[in-house]
Amino acid sequence: MEVTGHGPLVACPGCGALVPDVAGPTHAYIGASPGCWAAWGEVQARSFASPAIAAVQPLAVDVYAVQHPGLAERRAIQSVWVHLVSLCLILEAGRSPVDGIRAKQLLLAGARIFDRLEPPAARYSTTVLDIAAISDPEAVPEAVRRWARVTWEAWRPHHDAIRARAAALALG
Ligand SMILES: [Zn+2]
Repeated sequence: MEVTGHGPLVACPGCGALVPDVAGPTHAYIGASPGCWAAWGEVQARSFASPAIAAVQPLAVDVYAVQHPGLAERRAIQSVWVHLVSLCLILEAGRSPVDGIRAKQLLLAGARIFDRLEPPAARYSTTVLDIAAISDPEAVPEAVRRWARVTWEAWRPHHDAIRARAAALALG
């Protein structure tokens, strides 16, 4: 999809990116506009082209989910939590994206008691459009890590709660 083409733009309700006002599929509970969801589809597709991009893809999944908290319903609340814990482990504890995936599995295998975290304002300085715009595959991994740091920082009021949850996991 051409994300910089003609036609009206709308702000994505999740990340705030200005995206084409198109009709199209979205996710059941990730709160993205169709234009943003299409840009995300492009970014995901590129991970097949390069092992370096594929290696940061689980991190990108966490970031995208966290930037699109959606409505205050159970699956959405749970999704934001598990992806934030994974972000915390990768960015702060130096864990691998694979450990992040294990953390999410552990959280979802547990009692699944998650209080809603009030999301930050839906406007990020780095969004999926910045990643989609990168033409050099070699530059994607660092851009994804930057995107992750910006996103983690935006959730600062909840850092302590997320860290506690991450620390309680038996990741080994
Ligand atoms: Zn978005």
